[in-house]
Amino acid sequence: MKKVLIIVGTRPEAIKLVPIFTELRRSRRWLTLLVSSGQHREMLKSIFNFFEVKPDVDLAIMTKNQSLTGLTELLLESCSTVIDDHKPDLVIVQGDTTTAMVGALAAFYKRVKIAHVEAGLRSYDKTAPFPEEVNRRIISTMADFHFAPTRTAAEALRQEQVTGKIKVVGNTVIDSLLFATKKVSKNLNIFDAKYTHLIDQYEKTILITGHRRESFGEGFENICKAILTLAHAYPKVSFVYPVHLNPNVRSVVFSMLQGLRNVFLIDPVTYDDMVYLMTRSYLILTDSGGVQEEAPTLGKPVLIMRDKTERPEGVKAGCSILVGSSEKRIVRAVVGLMNNARKYKSMTRIVNPYGKGDSSKKIVSFLNHEI
Ligand code: UDP
Repeated sequence: MKKVLIIVGTRPEAIKLVPIFTELRRSRRWLTLLVSSGQHREMLKSIFNFFEVKPDVDLAIMTKNQSLTGLTELLLESCSTVIDDHKPDLVIVQGDTTTAMVGALAAFYKRVKIAHVEAGLRSYDKTAPFPEEVNRRIISTMADFHFAPTRTAAEALRQEQVTGKIKVVGNTVIDSLLFATKKVSKNLNIFDAKYTHLIDQYEKTILITGHRRESFGEGFENICKAILTLAHAYPKVSFVYPVHLNPNVRSVVFSMLQGLRNVFLIDPVTYDDMVYLMTRSYLILTDSGGVQEEAPTLGKPVLIMRDKTERPEGVKAGCSILVGSSEKRIVRAVVGLMNNARKYKSMTRIVNPYGKGDSSKKIVSFLNHEI
């Protein structure tokens, strides 16, 4: 039996790697170990609970206000140790976090094969997203198997002449989303009751998420100013914002938006709650990568509060609009979608360019042949 280590550090990595973990365990050809770095400890726990999985190894490296340097140092040491202890044939990492980059580097130093899930995303700006754009480029230089979600991503990798095999498989986030959607629809009345006070007495709900490092400071203040303006302009609309646990995000968001009657600042929600809230929303304002990928499956328009996106497929297909972090542009885009029913409808009926929910099966079947 071949041995594989799946290394996850943050909420989106867990959401996108658990379907592969489940599929590998199901295939019975692999001894599969789930390693949690604990980069986003609390939010990871909630995802593991939802999917009913338990990490085999918990590196627990995160300390309060950890710097990127400190995080990288601790991760490299502990990932190397875990690779020495388990001697895997393959290490799987996902996306662009520090955990993914360092997990891949540790595997590379030990000459262990690396599979990179969600490979080939590029903004071509090393400062945005920071430090993720550089993290994923570094991983691409080391990986043996590059699982690209779209043809555009695969093309980017070919242009860079990366070594190893490239395979277009869609994004595993859709596998998880479909799993969660089923669970939610079975318990709809429980979710309805839980969120009735945020949703039912309002005409519409706008869901907001925002947490990117490159928006800290002025960018976040502008985003909050836009929400403030919109909340006053649309008193019958509910603005629901599960606020990321990062203190840089929370301090600005709470100081600028707390106390408004129709703005609900809540703690990050579990994945099933998030899927429910997305389903009930009219549109979504976000800087999140995962949400950009999920929303088209649910038929929800996305306004991306970033200046650049490494996920141009959604914008090109017409299911999302890049609005940046300027107050004016965010407000204008929301007003546009509130007033133009035709435009709104056209954004809700687009086939999701990020996949249809079979990505983890494709990845495991590919690996079964390769290793
Ligand atoms: N998400 C969640 N709870 C929340 C906010 C987001 O479960 O309170 C999910 C969301 O549906 C998506 C993922 O977390 O699948 C996105 O994570 P995040 O925005 O932290 O990271 P990114 O995708 O930008 O890397």
